[in-house]
Amino acid sequence: MYDLRSDTFTQPSQEMRKAMYLAETGDDVYGEDPTAVKLQEIAAEITGKEESLIVSSGCMGNLIPHMIKGGRGKEVLCAASSHIVQHEIGAVVSLSGTLPVIVPSDNGIMAPDDVRKSIHGYAYDMSETAMIEVENTTSGLIYPLLVMQEIKKTAEEHGLWVHLDGARIFNASVETGIPVREYAAASDDITFCLSKGLGCPAFSVLSSTHGFIKEAKRCRKLLGGGMRQIGILAAAGIYALEHNIGRLKDDHRHRQMISRALEEAGWADIVISSTNMIFFRSQHPVEGIIEAFRRRGVLILREGDMARIVLSLNISDEDAEDVCAIIRDMKTGEFTA
Ligand SMILES: *Cc1c(COP(=O)(O)O)cnc(C)c1O
Repeated sequence: MYDLRSDTFTQPSQEMRKAMYLAETGDDVYGEDPTAVKLQEIAAEITGKEESLIVSSGCMGNLIPHMIKGGRGKEVLCAASSHIVQHEIGAVVSLSGTLPVIVPSDNGIMAPDDVRKSIHGYAYDMSETAMIEVENTTSGLIYPLLVMQEIKKTAEEHGLWVHLDGARIFNASVETGIPVREYAAASDDITFCLSKGLGCPAFSVLSSTHGFIKEAKRCRKLLGGGMRQIGILAAAGIYALEHNIGRLKDDHRHRQMISRALEEAGWADIVISSTNMIFFRSQHPVEGIIEAFRRRGVLILREGDMARIVLSLNISDEDAEDVCAIIRDMKTGEFTA
């Protein structure tokens, strides 16, 4: 089976497992896990922030900034498709009290002007705009750096905090050649996932100022995310940051190959094809298409009325060729639900 459902299905490689096996550990709640400390130092260097903190998941990395900079009666401006709105069980609302206010967007990418229009000043009866959330990549699409910089400038003018959900920021960075720290500089804090395309079993990293990370540690503890000998998992993170960033380009190349095969097949209307993701619609039922792929040994996901394909280190050059051959061989008669 070729698994193109998500880059969260990646498996730790033998080399990564070896690094995990050999990891030095300590009690991280006391800040005494040397491998966790090292991972956090590397992450701070990569993001250009003062300090970094390992968090259990991307969801926790998104929630904590809302606990610190949002809160009851405070608003976060974000796109309708953002992960905090669609896929986090409403945590920013139910656990931090922050109210997401939807800004119009082009497939998740907000225009600075629309962000500006959504900010409002003090009124005794209104919730207060406190922060802006930007997601890069968003559904695989790359936020242009200039757009992020303009949003950051607007935020500064209004005294607002910018949280960057950079779950897949490395995909953006390898595609554009823009260092992660430049994207991160257009935000006040950034979270990125180790557990997706980078191939780790777990963890995300949250980065910002010393003061912010000090508070973030308390929030992590409050959420039950204070963990002990996490060096075993942090070692996977260090391995990934040292070995698995550059190879994301392979995933992007495989995405282009598969995208071309879909285009040529004629039955797929591609909506998004960018970095490691493809979203497409069809005049044939989505369930039928997904089932036809499954019967031919390819797992893909449904997202609304679209089918979603995600490339990751699960897929080699030969696998990508094989998936293209499968697509070319498919007949529309197979797509009945
Ligand atoms: C996956 C993802 C998250 C959440 O990460 P988890 O580790 O699954 O909690 C947050 N934001 C985006 C954009 C994601 O794709």
